[in-house]
Amino acid sequence: MQEKFLQNISPGQEPASNTSGDVTESIRNSQIYLPRTSVQGSVLSENENKSGEVTKLQRSQLASFIQRKKNDSSGIYNTHGIIQRQPAPVPIPPLRTVTPVITQRYRPTGSITRQEFDRYVKTNFGVADVHTGTQQEQEQRSTRLNIPTVTIPNWQRWDPGTASDDYTSIINGIENMADALGAIPTIRTITFFKVFYNPDAAGTGIPDTSIGATFGAGSLTIFEAFSGSTYPAIGINTASGAPTAPANRERDIAHTITHELGHGVAEAAMASQNNQTFVEFRAAVGWIGTPEVLYDIGQPTVRAAIATQTQPPSQHRITPARWYDNTVSEQPMSRYAIDGGPSEDFAESIAAYINNPSVLQQRSPARYTFIRNNINTWRTRMRATMPARVRPPVGDFPIPEGDRSMA
Ligand SMILES: [Zn+2]
Repeated sequence: MQEKFLQNISPGQEPASNTSGDVTESIRNSQIYLPRTSVQGSVLSENENKSGEVTKLQRSQLASFIQRKKNDSSGIYNTHGIIQRQPAPVPIPPLRTVTPVITQRYRPTGSITRQEFDRYVKTNFGVADVHTGTQQEQEQRSTRLNIPTVTIPNWQRWDPGTASDDYTSIINGIENMADALGAIPTIRTITFFKVFYNPDAAGTGIPDTSIGATFGAGSLTIFEAFSGSTYPAIGINTASGAPTAPANRERDIAHTITHELGHGVAEAAMASQNNQTFVEFRAAVGWIGTPEVLYDIGQPTVRAAIATQTQPPSQHRITPARWYDNTVSEQPMSRYAIDGGPSEDFAESIAAYINNPSVLQQRSPARYTFIRNNINTWRTRMRATMPARVRPPVGDFPIPEGDRSMA
């Protein structure tokens, strides 16, 4: 209660610096209920001193002081024994400042309800709106310039349900980013749709089930395919064959979310760097030309060509098929990073920086360094977010029984 009071009368707004000295009035004005003890105990007495009133003790001390000085002949006291000068003000100890209480939160585990999901993302990530999309909404969203208004035949509604582990996995994707960066991009809206639609020239929505989620301008859209994976590398290729992890629903959803938020980081980056982020990213990791083609930035001849704006040697071009080629020095994180061009490469690199930074550092040191060197600037346009805590396990722990406990 006291914390609440002190927070509400933050320093500089001292409750009874009022010249009238009417503490009760100022407290009443602040419209905060205070238990009697708290008023009497600290705040009120401090303010009494400040307003020039005297306590009982001070009054009796003053009386004896005046009595003694009546007999003094130095002349600074008049004959009535009244002090002519104001006593030096009693120093007032500063109001204790209370650091705002940051709500500690625990990462969810297991299945949570949709209600819990909505509350969590709104409270902790500042999301303003979470909803399950409608047909009309998706038709409107899918409409592009120069095509008729989109219609979607056999449209179906979808979200993960009234309760699901998947809500937890989405949250943990966002938490992974908060953990690694201390910030997340602005997420205004989260919308669920069954499938992504691309309109044809006649305005008919054509489903694309390969798309798991999209992100743009603070809007995160999640489709049923969101547990699909781009199969990013989990190691550096030293022999032929791509080291990728087997599919894991929980991890793949979290990866999808961090990838999408990677596009949000790109938006923050562009805003913080005068839209120069991708000019620098392309040069730093080897994207050249229009449309962009990727070269192995780990090769000195490629770096020299980029510096002089000449064509790099063609044998150092990285095609999608070569994403796991062990002769490539700077290996991108996935085939999708090459297929999708610089912006998907950026999002895949951000996802790796969050979920698997040591792998990114080994495979793609130029990408790792680019993110590390710029993240503080990008963070200025992101939402600062303290990492969540991981709830400790509860209950009995097995007691080791000699060798039998070894596994
Ligand atoms: Zn993407």
